[in-house]
Amino acid sequence: MSPVYCYCHASEELAGSCPAGPEFEWEQVAGDLPLSRCPHCGGPVERMLSASSIRTRKFNCELRDLGFTKLVRVDDGLFENVTRRHGDEKYVDRRRPETFPDLKKTVAD
Ligand SMILES: [Zn+2]
Repeated sequence: MSPVYCYCHASEELAGSCPAGPEFEWEQVAGDLPLSRCPHCGGPVERMLSASSIRTRKFNCELRDLGFTKLVRVDDGLFENVTRRHGDEKYVDRRRPETFPDLKKTVAD
């Protein structure tokens, strides 16, 4: 029995256009290296680890490198910027515009 692993696309753009969907299962044949490219669309993929916190961290830093900004709601009007770049606030408060990520800096990257 070969183990079956779950993979997810490293890019949300590809995840939306891939025929296999954002996540897919792949049988790991003995001796094969883990997939780094999606066999369906050729885009970069990550093997999903069972510890979801690890996967989220990796996934978020890839999002950031791709130029995405991802906010996770932690409380009413309060969001954690999980893709924050240097100088960005960790928490974005809807009522405090000074905590918003600096888009100018992101675009200039
Ligand atoms: Zn794909």
